[in-house]
Amino acid sequence: MTTSTAPVGVTPVRGRSPTARLLAAPAADLAAHVTTHGPLPVLGGPQLVALLEASGLAGRGGAGFPTWRKLADVPATATGSTVVVANGAEGEPASSKDAVLLADAPHLVLDGLVLAGTALGARELHLYAGAHALHAVRTALTERPGLRVTLTEAPDTFISGEESAVVRALAGGPAVPHDRTTRITRRGLGGAPTLVQNVETLAHLALAARHGAAWFRTVGPTDDPGTRLVTLSGDVAHPGVLEVASGTNLAALLRDAGTDPTTVRAVLVGGYHGAWVPGPELSRTELSVASLHRFGATPGAGVVHVLGVHRCGLTAAAEIATWLGEQSARQCGPCVNGLPTMAATLTRLARRSPDPELPREITRLAALVTGRGSCRHPDGTARMVASTLRAFGHDVSLHRQGRCEATPGQRR
Ligand code: SF4
Repeated sequence: MTTSTAPVGVTPVRGRSPTARLLAAPAADLAAHVTTHGPLPVLGGPQLVALLEASGLAGRGGAGFPTWRKLADVPATATGSTVVVANGAEGEPASSKDAVLLADAPHLVLDGLVLAGTALGARELHLYAGAHALHAVRTALTERPGLRVTLTEAPDTFISGEESAVVRALAGGPAVPHDRTTRITRRGLGGAPTLVQNVETLAHLALAARHGAAWFRTVGPTDDPGTRLVTLSGDVAHPGVLEVASGTNLAALLRDAGTDPTTVRAVLVGGYHGAWVPGPELSRTELSVASLHRFGATPGAGVVHVLGVHRCGLTAAAEIATWLGEQSARQCGPCVNGLPTMAATLTRLARRSPDPELPREITRLAALVTGRGSCRHPDGTARMVASTLRAFGHDVSLHRQGRCEATPGQRR
């Protein structure tokens, strides 16, 4: 399925901030973990749902869905037959935060998995992640012999972490998405109601259960509380994974990472399915749902990919769109035909084709693929491409005249 190298690769480097919770004190073993965080409480289903609703915790896997809603969607009558899955698959090349979390705080993720499983009366617990990330979990599980968690290796593909793909992979099938009309929370693994939660979400859940909803809300804005793990990549002095308060200003985030925001052309927020925030807007933009809304972006899985002023935004976006087009499962029309055509058209624009119809054609293709797949891969790809035309409007005009603002060494 994959034919080219991902445009971005991130070396997991930990950075800690004063507001860090998940990565504040990585515990080497279970005893240290319990000393740091205290014993794990036991909560019933309604209790956990109420706590999560009061805390305002939203999923950290990308979609940002309220965590309590997902739990509440698992039928209470399914007690004893449900399945809970900790999802640490990071097919997103610009993200390493789940791998860092599993390496630094595997017991926190396991705590969250146990809490959710206990509250739902789960019959099975699973953890699904890349091979490297599973190593630390395996070691952590040796310290908890009474805990039975099935570990499954996630293939290194962009769509392997989509929740219906996760269920198929756990069932021994290919890690590709399934029909999205079926709610996994009602009919998932083996036909059982299945809760798939991102590993960072579960780690936050484990802390909120210990310290309460009010404590969780002491950091971040009211409508998007808590901390979040961020993977900084691209043209930034100190790339890597760090934990910041939701609502952190993007310019401040870059300065803390040793990068002058005035040297940035744009930042891709939320990942390859995210949207671009232009450099001049960084000081007025926070890493929160509300602040990013005007750019069509969300914090997503915490990806912040930086494009320096010397780079061409159209070229960078075309490379990402091409890679995304190659990542589909090629099950649905939009992925077989639409995404490669959209990427090729954007590539022509990036290469300064004088064809005046290209921007209109890209917009048409983005609208055409949206909502037409079995999963959100076409929608996310179209979102990033549409955002490219908005964020780099000036570059679009220049390219149509055969010019590019990027320095000659970086031009294509
Ligand atoms: S929309 Fe694309 S990625 Fe999603 S299931 Fe269909 S072919 Fe696969």
